[in-house]
Amino acid sequence: EIVPIKRALLSVSDKSGIIEFAKALADKGVELVSTGGTCKAIADAGIAVKDVSEITEFPEIMDGRVKTLHPRVHGGLLGARSVAAHTDAMKEHGIPEIDLLVVNLYPFEETIKKGADYATTVENIDIGGPAMIRASAKNHAFVTTLVDPADYVDLLALINEHGGVPVEARKGYAAKAFARTAAYDAAISGWFADALAIESPTYRAFGGELAEVMRYGENPHQKAGFYKTASTRPGVATATQVQGKKLSYNNINDTDAAFELVSEFDPSITSAVAIIKHANPCGVATGSSLKDAYEKALECDPVSAFGGIVALNKTLDAEAATEIIKIFTEVIIAPDATDDAKALIASKKNLRLLLAGSLADPREESMTVKSVSGGLLVQNRDNGNIDDLDLKIVTKRQPSEQELADLKFAFRVCKHVKSNAIVYVKDGATVGVGAGQMSRVDSARIAARKAEDAAEAAGHPEPLTNGCVVASDAFFPFADGLLAAAAAGATAVIQPGGSMRDQDVIDAADEAGLAMVMTGMRHFRH
Ligand code: 5GP
Repeated sequence: EIVPIKRALLSVSDKSGIIEFAKALADKGVELVSTGGTCKAIADAGIAVKDVSEITEFPEIMDGRVKTLHPRVHGGLLGARSVAAHTDAMKEHGIPEIDLLVVNLYPFEETIKKGADYATTVENIDIGGPAMIRASAKNHAFVTTLVDPADYVDLLALINEHGGVPVEARKGYAAKAFARTAAYDAAISGWFADALAIESPTYRAFGGELAEVMRYGENPHQKAGFYKTASTRPGVATATQVQGKKLSYNNINDTDAAFELVSEFDPSITSAVAIIKHANPCGVATGSSLKDAYEKALECDPVSAFGGIVALNKTLDAEAATEIIKIFTEVIIAPDATDDAKALIASKKNLRLLLAGSLADPREESMTVKSVSGGLLVQNRDNGNIDDLDLKIVTKRQPSEQELADLKFAFRVCKHVKSNAIVYVKDGATVGVGAGQMSRVDSARIAARKAEDAAEAAGHPEPLTNGCVVASDAFFPFADGLLAAAAAGATAVIQPGGSMRDQDVIDAADEAGLAMVMTGMRHFRH
């Protein structure tokens, strides 16, 4: 069950640690075989190494496109040592046994990140490397496959201890090898889908590279990891963490929700802030400055905002930072931050500050993935935008200009609230958010009750919902949800429409003197 290493094939793009590793193998009497650049690096270090073309008796051709794609290499990786027909073939055709394959691939992911042109990117699709990795990982009964320089030291320790590589280790390395080639191909397919600019599950395979292992998942008894795709989209996966503790699983999820929401607000038009708890906004506001917007967002539900995630749509400044650090916050994410703001945040050691470089494009087409038992559900992300919709006023009363502005704001926020979503808004700020209820009327009531609580806590004589507007993420199936919103003080309503009972709901709105706008687009979010 322990396979001694007599011959190793090394072919690596990332040459870190390869010389030390090659030397240690050579010192153990391992025969080294290698490809062009890797071979040169090893030979230059004074270590005995054979060029793979000595084995193939075929030169490296086509700018390296074909260097190891040869039966003498693949036979040496794939031949089952226990099967006579295989070993006979190896003898007959002069195929040497390769016991250890050390490969890391052309840096395709880094090439995309650098924004390389089309031809350069295509040239960085490694062909021979994945072929060898898959061959030797398949033949893990006899061959060891290393795809990660971080494993060199461990492998040497194993050989020292056992005089070879135990089967369990070979299986582990093989599993890791297939994870690597799968992630590599997913990156290529993702790049292709982007280049085609056709967002369809047909063109995009889903996968990513394990970038980080978290201490735990949603709960402490769950293991967790963060797989990153090769995407360069601004967001939680690509942002730079300036300070603070490591992000937890829940932090990453909530920060994503916060940043996606705040990215809906064009910074050339307004400052905007979103405060998120458990992936739902507990306060969102626009304002004359980030500080103003933050204060308005906080006022919506200051109790829930404790321990929240704050996202801002502009460079975080000192005035806003001063306000934010007054209460306990888990994460701040913004496109950038001034030095003064960074210094203020630095006074809170654990507070995580993420800088995303810019905002995400809310209209960008990409796909989202959700796992279900035994499969993955994929869909185009909801990039619907209220500004692109044909709004229809369906009531006798027209919304005023202020109401219309608030209705659009409310619908924009509604898209980022778990269904059933009801959002009350006044003067460019949420004043009540009802999220994740199984009935729409409950969401309407809960949002109203939260507004009452907030008003009471702030010492306001009346709830902020008096004279507000309301958005619903999907149509009102009955008039009851609408009437609950009217009872809470809403004067205007925005909703997709499309119910069998739309006319009943319109009649109820007319009777209550409400103005109502239909968007024709639903924003379910589960
Ligand atoms: P080197 O620097 O040794 O010349 O090249 C190492 C790289 O070449 C590795 O990343 C390896 O995956 C890749 N590679 C090895 N054989 C082949 C091949 O036949 N075709 C292509 N396209 N890449 C190969």
